Amino acid sequence: MAKDYYGILGVSRDASDDDIKRAYRKLARQYHPDVNPDPEAHEKFKDINAAYEVLSDDQKRQIVDLGGDPLAPGGGPGAGPGGAGGPFVGFQDIMDAFFGAAGGSRGPRPRTRPGADAILRLELDLPETAFGVEAPIAVDTAVLCTTCSGAGTAPGTHLATCEACGGRGEVQSVQRTFLGQVVSSRPCTVCQGYGTVIPHACPTCAGDGRVRTRRSLTVKIPAGVEDGMRIRLAQQGEVGPGGGTAGDLYVEIHERPHDVYSRKGDDLHCRVTVPMTAAALGTRLTIKTLDSEEPVDVKPGTQPGSTLRLRARGVPHLRGTGRGDLYVHLDVRTPTKLDAEQERMLREFAKTRGEEVAELTKQGGFFSRMRDAFNGHA
Ligand SMILES: [Zn+2]
Ligand SMILES: [Zn+2]
Repeated sequence: MAKDYYGILGVSRDASDDDIKRAYRKLARQYHPDVNPDPEAHEKFKDINAAYEVLSDDQKRQIVDLGGDPLAPGGGPGAGPGGAGGPFVGFQDIMDAFFGAAGGSRGPRPRTRPGADAILRLELDLPETAFGVEAPIAVDTAVLCTTCSGAGTAPGTHLATCEACGGRGEVQSVQRTFLGQVVSSRPCTVCQGYGTVIPHACPTCAGDGRVRTRRSLTVKIPAGVEDGMRIRLAQQGEVGPGGGTAGDLYVEIHERPHDVYSRKGDDLHCRVTVPMTAAALGTRLTIKTLDSEEPVDVKPGTQPGSTLRLRARGVPHLRGTGRGDLYVHLDVRTPTKLDAEQERMLREFAKTRGEEVAELTKQGGFFSRMRDAFNGHA
């Protein structure tokens, strides 16, 4: 049975040449093996090619319109080699065939190229992020090969022009395909597109112009940095192929959790426990801040959950001047064990305040007596 070539391209039977071209170009973008690695796409692309070959050719299209298949064996005049089994045309070549090659010759690519950026994680404690530090770091990156200074050639030797491509870095081939004559240029495989070859590679870097090594650096961390911030060290990243300019190194700050303080922006928070009596009577505490000790007054009658604010005792602002605040959250501790004398005094105290305190019994306890009261047994 004849294949539905119109259906494969998704065009109607009266589609113009332009419609067919447009449909093919669109599907090639979607299914060409160069852009779509899916094996099913590969099969589909073969069909798309066959459909375009048939429908873009007036003679073959006529056979289709008469119910035949010009690509089937003995399918009629014009059938022959090519079609789905024809020369494989690269995606870029198809695009070039439709739009013309972009920018003409691409020329040899340079051996020396810029290097990549590198990133390094640096763990710091809160006092270090707050006040800044000069931190030693070990950096593993590619650095310039000192044997060849990046050239990649053994000492006393030089690059040679590639004979396969004559130094152009690319080779051109002309294919006759169903799209017509397609000129395609590909990077020269002998020189990988450089246009030059290294007859004698540098023994240290094997021609790469760079070697991997570990360096020690000191990075200056400014006061007030936060978790997740990155410090950029210009050109301390990877040296590029052929000794190309190094990329940048980013040092990413990770702040370790602190035992006492939790940080919210530039403010710090901590918890301090005070006895019930101190909260009631008021007291003076000594609060340790990140860099000092401060006397702090707790007012008489302080409630659990109260917060004291120590201005400018938090983290210094990274930009501008000043510091965040330190918030001291007060936990009021109720005594857990009273001896007989303390209990007597506390009950006495409660009585003087008119606060009736029901007494727990050895047997049932306070709640069972409450229940009895509700049930009328009291
Ligand atoms: Zn070298
Ligand atoms: Zn070459």
